[in-house]
Amino acid sequence: MIQDIGLNRLKNHYDPALRPDADSRMVHFRGRKLLCQLGEGDELTLPTCAQLGAAAGEGSVYLFSIDETTYFLCRAEEVSVPEGFTYEDIAVFRRARPRETAFAAVTAFHLATWYGDNRYCGRCGAPTEHDGAERMLRCPKCGNMIFPKIMPSVIVAVTHGDRLLLTKYANRPGATRFALIAGFTEIGETVEETVHREVMEEVGLKVKNLRYYKSQPWGISGGGLLMGYWCEVDGDDAIHVDHVELDEGAWVSREELRKTYHDTGVSLTGEMIAKFAIGEEHFALRCE
Ligand SMILES: [Zn+2]
Repeated sequence: MIQDIGLNRLKNHYDPALRPDADSRMVHFRGRKLLCQLGEGDELTLPTCAQLGAAAGEGSVYLFSIDETTYFLCRAEEVSVPEGFTYEDIAVFRRARPRETAFAAVTAFHLATWYGDNRYCGRCGAPTEHDGAERMLRCPKCGNMIFPKIMPSVIVAVTHGDRLLLTKYANRPGATRFALIAGFTEIGETVEETVHREVMEEVGLKVKNLRYYKSQPWGISGGGLLMGYWCEVDGDDAIHVDHVELDEGAWVSREELRKTYHDTGVSLTGEMIAKFAIGEEHFALRCE
């Protein structure tokens, strides 16, 4: 998955003392577009502070480090684009190499979205300031404390014997491939209740035997933290698709998935479908 970056280590502790040096990587977005160099084989390179110039480092915010490389969010409206660099849609993270740079890009996007959305206090409207010690924005006028937004959500693989329920989103450009049931946790419910509710809302099925599998940070959707669950259909297996959210829902056999499904190694959804195809869905915690 995107966050599996092998022996490379993400250090996400906020350190206010860190300032960019010449080799620090600078992350600059224009909306959803990332300033980067995209080489042969989708090799992704982010500009260094030396390439962007010292002015880009001023007012930048320390994001995180991967091994010894520090990453900073450049908050200037415009920067002078170094030769060979372009602005690419952040969706490039799905295919870019090396994996640690792709993960850095999407994690930076999550933080950049949060910083951009919280320049003003939602309580009193005053401009916010960065806290001096931790990753938090503080309102100097009313004391409001704003922490990074992380939204719990579920990915649900509903099984029925040798078949897995796959869905396709409606009204989502580019949604050409099948996915699993997914949705955000609502206020006042447990994650397990989210599983039951989302499956009922999207395809009208009751489920049982919930088992937790793994989680995945998913910063592309504004800050999702996906939690993957396996469960089995309980009773009637007739799918009633909610056409507001979904285009299609279908039971697909293990055999068909083995023939047709290729996991690109990026998403929790992809990994769960691939695990089902090879009959490994039972290695999970039961958590009714
Ligand atoms: Zn305020």
